This record gives sequence, structure tokens and C-alpha cells, in this order.
Amino acid sequence: MDSGTLVRGAPEVNAEVVVVGGGLAGAAAAIRLARAGRDVVVIERALSAEHKVCGEFLSREALNYLESLGLEVASFGAVPIGAVRLAWKGGLSETKLPFHALSLTRRRLDEELLRLAADAGARVLRGCRVHGIERERNGWRAMVEGGEPVLANAAFLATGKHDLRGRPRPKGKQSDLVAFKMYWRLAPAQAAALEGHVELMLYRGGYAGLQPVEDGAANLCCLVERAELQRHGGRWEHFLAAMQRECGLLRERLQGAQALLERPLAVSAIPYGYVRAASHGVWALGDQAAVIPSFTGDGMSIALHSGCLAAAMYLQGESAEQFQAKLYRELSGQVALATLVSRGLVWAPSRGVLMAMASLRPRSLEIVARRTRISEAALLA
Ligand SMILES: Cc1cc2nc3c(=O)[nH]c(=O)nc-3n(C[C@H](O)[C@H](O)[C@H](O)COP(=O)(O)OP(=O)(O)OC[C@H]3O[C@@H](n4cnc5c(N)ncnc54)[C@H](O)[C@@H]3O)c2cc1C
Repeated sequence: MDSGTLVRGAPEVNAEVVVVGGGLAGAAAAIRLARAGRDVVVIERALSAEHKVCGEFLSREALNYLESLGLEVASFGAVPIGAVRLAWKGGLSETKLPFHALSLTRRRLDEELLRLAADAGARVLRGCRVHGIERERNGWRAMVEGGEPVLANAAFLATGKHDLRGRPRPKGKQSDLVAFKMYWRLAPAQAAALEGHVELMLYRGGYAGLQPVEDGAANLCCLVERAELQRHGGRWEHFLAAMQRECGLLRERLQGAQALLERPLAVSAIPYGYVRAASHGVWALGDQAAVIPSFTGDGMSIALHSGCLAAAMYLQGESAEQFQAKLYRELSGQVALATLVSRGLVWAPSRGVLMAMASLRPRSLEIVARRTRISEAALLA
């Protein structure tokens, strides 16, 4: 069967491994398995490249994984990020990042990884939505909307924020936030001031990250408590105006800026703080395995790490249960700390304390940045 096509009318598609979801986690696993000569089918809902709600900050760990998979993101226009600014009301502090980071749009990144998966020999089915995974004799059946089911010995679940029917994730420890993302073309002086930085801005009920991406655009990714958004009538324009009233730096950056999308992308009910402890036979990867608060910029590293780890353990003959237990041990501490800090950033009384700490002791930012990343010991070669 050709990559990218479902055989209409055929009774089923057979493979050794079915990967449901072709984001970073699913593509990473598929690349590693296909390069080891395994027969892999990846099923991806989107027919072509799409924008995703993501700050698009690629940490050193994510970059190492991408490089090991054969993707040199700099050649696709990724831009360097060397420092983080933290802004709240009139206050501003800046710290150098303790590692090298880049930023690249997901629309470009995810597409390139899926291309690598197909080049490695994985069959990539695009525009196909899986609506469930069921046990089938000794393996698994992935049911595809309007297409043939895919039968496989092993099922990897990598649907990111979207849960499959019958496999919901619990709520997480901070699940009342709504996320928005908008690209901007900043005025030249503001674009120059932002260059090389990720700017983390705090406001009532949430926080936002602004950073440059390729092609001269800037990505503004914001989180806000649902109740706070309701105070603004649930409207993006009103919320955007409120953020700017509260955060002088954002007001300055957006002066004379042009919005590049017709409307922002949005996602809600993100189960921040969730870490899956048991697999029930399915290999859960990426956001299906753990959801770390966005300010850490580590979700993509976790997605890539989990995809590569799952492939390695599968190839060594280990079980989905062993994989999920190992991933849980590796990630639960970092996700718990990140969730605690994220709640502190959103809750007004603690926000003041955290800001004071950050401006009096800029090194505390560096410590939080280190402790909320995958540990060196866990990273794969
Ligand atoms: C507001 C916000 C900001 C963030 N900022 C950053 C950041 O700056 N840096 C960082 O590292 N991380 C960040 N993250 C986290 C990061 O985006 C995720 O952790 C990462 O995308 C998870 O990768 P994944 O492969 O698990 O899922 P995804 O990238 O979401 O991929 C899942 C794929 O599955 C497909 N799919 C879904 N359902 C189905 C289905 N039923 N059938 C077939 N296909 C399906 C989707 O189309 C998608 O392509 C942020 C997250 C949020 C919410």
C-alpha cells in the first residue's frame, strides 16, 4: 500500500505497530521503529500541515532528540532563543537560559517529522480520524472513521490533547485554563527588542509567552483561567485588551503589530499535571502520557523522549506496562513541581511572592528551569 492512502473496500490494514496520532511523539516513535525495520502504520487526523496551540519553544533536550532523528531545525529557519524575560505589571527581570534553545512553528516541525517517518518506511495515513482502539485477539484494532480498521500487534496512542472515545484522561491538577495562540508581525523596533528572547508575562488569572519564530513572525501563546475569561465575556478581543492593560511590556510589543491569523487558535480543559501511571496494554506517548504546564517549554521534549523511549523498549521486547511505569518514574517529579509553580503564577497572592523572588534572585528562575526538565540521566542517546 502506498504511503498516505487507505485502501477503500479492503477488509483491513495489517501492521506490526499502529501509531495513532502523527504529532511529535507519534512521529518520533514511528521513525525509530521503521528504521529498525518494523512494519508501522501512522494514522494522522490532519490531511496536511496545521497550526497547533503551542509556544514553539524548543529546549535543548527537544533539539537533541530532533537531531538524533535526523532533523536539523536550523535549516528550516528556526530562530535562536538565549534569554527569558519575566514581566509583571511594571516589573521586569531577565535571565540567560542555562541551555541553547530555538523556536520553530509546529506547522513546519510536525510536517518535517512525519516526512522523515514516511522516508524511513512507515505508512503514514493522512486525513484519517481514529475513533477507538479495541483489543483484537492478541493485538489491537484501530477503528478509522470512514475507512478500514488497522490491525496490529501493538498500539501506540499519541493523540496529544485529544482523547479517544473510551480512553479519557483524568482532569489533571490544573485543568481550568483556556489557551489561545496568535501570530503577529511586530513593528520593526519591537521585533528587534524581542529578538533572542522568550518573554513570559503575568496577568490576572494567567500568563503568556511571546517569542519570535521563523519568517519574521512572533508567537503569542496565552493561558487564562476560565472564570477570568468569562469576566471578559469569553471574548478574545476583550481578554487581549485586558492583558495589555495589565502588562506594559505586552502593550509595548503589540503597538503597531499586525495579527497574522484571522482568529486565534484556542484549546481548553488541558489536564496540566496529569501523568499516566498504568498503560492497560496501550503505549501512551506525549500528552497522552504526561501534560506539563506550558511555561516550562518542555512538553515537546517529553513528547519526543516518550516516543523514542517507547520505540527503544518495544524493540527490546519490553511491555507497554514496563514502559509506562518507567516514564511515570522519570516524569512525575518534574511535572508535579511545574504544576505547583504554574498554580503559583496564576494565583494572585503567590504570584507577588514568585515575582519578588525572581527579581531579587534571578538564579531562582534558572533553578526552576532546570528542575522542570527531563533529567539528564533519563535522556536517550
Ligand atoms: C498553550 C500551550 C503552550 C505550549 N508551549 C510549549 C512550548 O513552548 N514548548 C514545548 O516544548 N511545549 C509546549 N507545549 C506542549 C506541547 O505542545 C505538547 O506537549 C506537544 O505538542 C505534545 O506532543 P504530542 O505528539 O503528544 O501531541 P500533538 O502534537 O498534539 O500531536 C497529536 C496528533 O494526533 C492527531 N490526532 C488527534 N486525535 C486523533 C485521532 N482521533 N485520530 C488520528 N489522529 C489524531 C492530531 O491531529 C495531532 O497531529 C505547549 C502546550 C500548550 C497547550
